[in-house]
Amino acid sequence: MTNNNLIDDCIFCKIIRGEIPSHKIAETDKACAFLDINPISEGHCLVIPKYHGEFFHQIPDDYLADILPLARKVALASGLDEAQYNLLQNNGPMAHQVVPHVHFHIIPKPRKEEGLIVGWPMKEASQDKLKGTLNRIKEKL
Ligand code: AMP
Ligand code: ZN
Repeated sequence: MTNNNLIDDCIFCKIIRGEIPSHKIAETDKACAFLDINPISEGHCLVIPKYHGEFFHQIPDDYLADILPLARKVALASGLDEAQYNLLQNNGPMAHQVVPHVHFHIIPKPRKEEGLIVGWPMKEASQDKLKGTLNRIKEKL
């Protein structure tokens, strides 16, 4: 594997290069899974591309293509097919991103009081408003 897509000053790039310790679960040529150092619940882990990018949309398709299959493998190995969990990916500090290298969280939800707590401030939207949103997105695809 080449490390051309990593940078020096990034904690997750350093984990990929093995420069700082981590509890690595599994890896492919383009992705890596390891335990979160401050777990929200037991088994909380991270799956990251071996490509430095702050935001999801900056990661090339071939790196993204390795992430979900690896996340699924880890979820199965963690026994989450028999349980409940959240798969989470934050983009930007306002959206709760702290480490500026793309990462997907796998967070077991063993009980209501444990694991991820999500606010869900849903609003009503008219058909016109939904159509306007749909058009705005489709025009740029
Ligand atoms: P986020 O808020 O989505 O940026 O989450 C960053 C996550 O990275 C947090 O859950 C941290 O506990 C985790 N984290 C930070 N440094 C490390 C590290 N050295 N090894 C493992 N996980 C880490
Ligand atoms: Zn990085």
